[in-house]
Amino acid sequence: MSDLISKVARHKGDEIIAHCPIDDWDFAPRYTDGVCPICGWRPEGIDVTLPFAARIDWFWPAVGFLALVSVAMAIAVIVTYIKA
Ligand SMILES: [Zn+2]
Repeated sequence: MSDLISKVARHKGDEIIAHCPIDDWDFAPRYTDGVCPICGWRPEGIDVTLPFAARIDWFWPAVGFLALVSVAMAIAVIVTYIKA
C-alpha cells in the first residue's frame, strides 16, 4: 500500500503532490478536493482533509470578536470620560 502511495504521491516540503497517470500531470490534491483538475482521477490513499482551523468559516467568529472589542472600547471611552 505504501508502495502505491509513493508511486502516485510525493512530498514537497509539507505539501503532498500527486501525479496523474492518465494525463501525466502533477497537482496538489488539497487544493482540488483530492481529484485531478483535468480528468477527475482520484489518487488512492491520499488524505486531503484540511486542518481544523482551515475547515471552519472564520467570518462570524471574527464579526463577534470585532463587536466584543467595539463594546469594550466604548465602555473604556465612557468610563474615562465620566472619570475625567
Ligand atoms: Zn488527470
